[in-house]
Amino acid sequence: MTTEDTGAETPRTEDFPAEHPLAEDFSAEDFRAAAHAAAELVSDYLAELPGRPVWQPMDDDARRALLDAPLPAGGRPLAELLAAIGQDVLPHPMGNGNPRFFGWVNSAPAPAGVLATLAAAAMNPSSAGGDHADVHLERAVVRWIAELVGFPHPAGGGLLTSGTSMATIVCLAAARDRAARRAGRDIREDGLAGLPPLVGYVTGETHSCVRKAAELLGLGSRHLRTVATGPDGRLDTADLRAAVERDRAAGLLPFLVVASAGTVGTGAVDEFGPIADLCEEQDLWLHVDGAYGAFGRLDPAIAHRYAGLERADSLALDPHKWLGVPVDCGCALVRDTDELRATFSLVPSYLRDEAAGALGWFSEYGTEQTRPFRALKVWATIAHRGRTGLARDIARCTDLARRLGELVRADDELELLAEVQTSIVAFRHRASGLDPAARDALNRDLPAAVQRRGRVFVTGARLGEHEMLRACLLNAATTEDDLRLLLAEVKDAARDLLA
Ligand SMILES: *Cc1c(COP(=O)(O)O)cnc(C)c1O
Repeated sequence: MTTEDTGAETPRTEDFPAEHPLAEDFSAEDFRAAAHAAAELVSDYLAELPGRPVWQPMDDDARRALLDAPLPAGGRPLAELLAAIGQDVLPHPMGNGNPRFFGWVNSAPAPAGVLATLAAAAMNPSSAGGDHADVHLERAVVRWIAELVGFPHPAGGGLLTSGTSMATIVCLAAARDRAARRAGRDIREDGLAGLPPLVGYVTGETHSCVRKAAELLGLGSRHLRTVATGPDGRLDTADLRAAVERDRAAGLLPFLVVASAGTVGTGAVDEFGPIADLCEEQDLWLHVDGAYGAFGRLDPAIAHRYAGLERADSLALDPHKWLGVPVDCGCALVRDTDELRATFSLVPSYLRDEAAGALGWFSEYGTEQTRPFRALKVWATIAHRGRTGLARDIARCTDLARRLGELVRADDELELLAEVQTSIVAFRHRASGLDPAARDALNRDLPAAVQRRGRVFVTGARLGEHEMLRACLLNAATTEDDLRLLLAEVKDAARDLLA
C-alpha cells in the first residue's frame, strides 16, 4: 500500500516524485532570482494599491481556491510560488493599505517595515535572549517607543508582544501578582484561592482585551467594575473613587485601574493626572491602554491630552497601529521591570546574572519562549521617518480627523457624535423622518453597504445605546478629497438602503 491510498503511513524518501525540486536542488542563485522577482511583485502591489477598489468581496472560485487548496505532495519552484501569490493572494487584500480605508484601527504597512520583515525572516532568530543583534535591537526599540510616548523606561522595562491583547495580559498579570504580594500571598505558588476578590476598574469604553485578560488571569469579569464616563467619554474620577471605597468597605481588594489613551470607539483620552493621584493614594496599579492612541502624544496639537501618562505603572501600545509597523507588533512598558520578572521568570534569583546590565532573557518578562524578531521592522519604521517624520504623519492624521469632524458637522444629513480628540471620528446618518429604531437599523447596515461599493471602507460600532459609523485616520497619504468621498459614499449608500 502506498501513502496515497492510506494517507496514514509515514512517507519514505523514494515516495517523493523525482521531478520536483527537493531541498538539495535548491541553490542560492534560485533564491536570488526569486527575491528579485518578489521585490518587483511587492513593489507593483504597493504602487497599484491606491488605484484599486479598497476592498471587494471575493468571488466564490477565488475563495474556494484558497480554502480547498490540496496539500501538495511534491514541491514547486519558488518562481511558481510567487506567481501564485501574485495571482491568488495579492488581488484580495483586507483594504488597509489604501488611503481610503478608515476601518477599525488597521494601518497601511510602513514601507521600511515591509523590507525589514524579509531580513528578519532571513535571520530567523529566537529573540528570547542571548548575545545576538535581535536581542539588543529589541532593548533599543522598546526604549525608543517609550521615548516617543514619554513613558519612563528603566533598562529592560518592557518588551515587544504580538499586540496589545497580549501586552495587556502581561501587564495585568504583574499587577495581579503585586497586589497579592502586598496582601501577603504568592499567587505563583498558591493561586488565587484564599484571596479576597481582586477588583479592577474600567469604563464602558474600555477595549474588550482587558476583560479577556481579567478572565484568563482568574480574576473574573464580575470583578471588573464599569466606572461612569463624562459626556466626553472620559473616566469619571469621582465615580471611580466612590466605587473603590465601596468595594474596600465590602472587604474586597481593589487593585487595578485601566485608563485609555485613545478609546477604540471615539478616540477619547482619559485624564491621567487625577486618576494617577487616586491610584497612588489607594495603592492601585494604573494600567493605560494606549494600543491605538498613545502615539498621538507626538502631535503637539493634542499632546496636552496625555499629561500624566508617564505616571502609569504600565502602558500597552501597538506599533502595528498608528506607526504602521507591519503586523504583528505590540509593546508592554512597565515602570518597574522587577514586577514583570517576579511574575514571569522561571530562573531562580540565585542563578540570575545580576551583574550590571544583565537583564536576563525576554522570556523572563513575558509569556513567549521562542520569540520572533519583531524589533527589526520597528527599528526600520522609526529610523526611516525619524521622530520628526512620525510626528508629522501623526499630526497629519489628527488634522484630517478634525477636518472630517467639521465636514460632518456642516452636513445636514449627518451628525457628529463625539468631539474629535485624537484621529477617530464617530458619526451617524441622521435619517430624518425615521424613528430611532429604524435610524439605528440604517446606521448598523451602512458600513457593510459602503464597503461593498469598494470606493472607501468604514466600519461601525455601538456608542452607548446607538449604532454609529467610526472613521479612523491612520494614513498620512489620505487627502481631503478622500474625506469628502467617504461622506458622499455614506450618504449614497444610505439613499440606496432606504430606497
Ligand atoms: C487594537 C486595540 C486593542 C487590542 O490590541 P491588539 O493589538 O489587537 O491585540 C486594545 N485596545 C485598543 C484601544 C485597541 O485599539
